[in-house]
Amino acid sequence: MKENNFVKEVPSGYVQVKYINAKNVKVGLIFNAICLLVAAAVITVAVLLAVNSGENIAEANPIKTLIVTIIGIAVFFAYIILHELVHGVVYKQQTGEKLTFGLSWSCAYCGVPNVYVYRKTAIIAVAAPLIIFSIIFMATSAVAFFLDKTFFLLSAAILGFHLGGCSGDIYVLALLIFKFKNKKMLMRDTGPEQYFYLPKEN
Ligand SMILES: [Zn+2]
Repeated sequence: MKENNFVKEVPSGYVQVKYINAKNVKVGLIFNAICLLVAAAVITVAVLLAVNSGENIAEANPIKTLIVTIIGIAVFFAYIILHELVHGVVYKQQTGEKLTFGLSWSCAYCGVPNVYVYRKTAIIAVAAPLIIFSIIFMATSAVAFFLDKTFFLLSAAILGFHLGGCSGDIYVLALLIFKFKNKKMLMRDTGPEQYFYLPKEN
């Protein structure tokens, strides 16, 4: 089945229709700016929810706040690694090919650089971490809201940075879902770069 998910060379008759490079200064800055804006928006909503809950969060214990912040930073770095691993697990399961992982100035990444995957595989691989971690962090935020407002704000902040950090994935997904609807579309994902190919019309 794996053979149906990718090809090793672009078949004749295909043309490159799009190229994205997250290491490009402009692209990297735009996605990171969107990340901060989304995170700020989610955190603002969370703070408003916490304030309106009636609990006096201003009287939170500073030592607890510090410990929770340290936990939050550790969880977030673990999350970044797990996010890339989820991309990797899907690419590996779909292709069996060699993966690449890395970190550039603008993003962490995972790709499958030696092959060209079809649209369906591309959609599953790009969407998987977005879906999985959105469910996890929304669930932890909802539970924490009723148990502990400090952990709620921490969980909501991680949710915000997760959603914002997925701006690149969301952009690629939007292209795959709305722009390149041809299931014969091929994508080469080196990690920071994505190349898109379509069969030439006639
Ligand atoms: Zn991703």
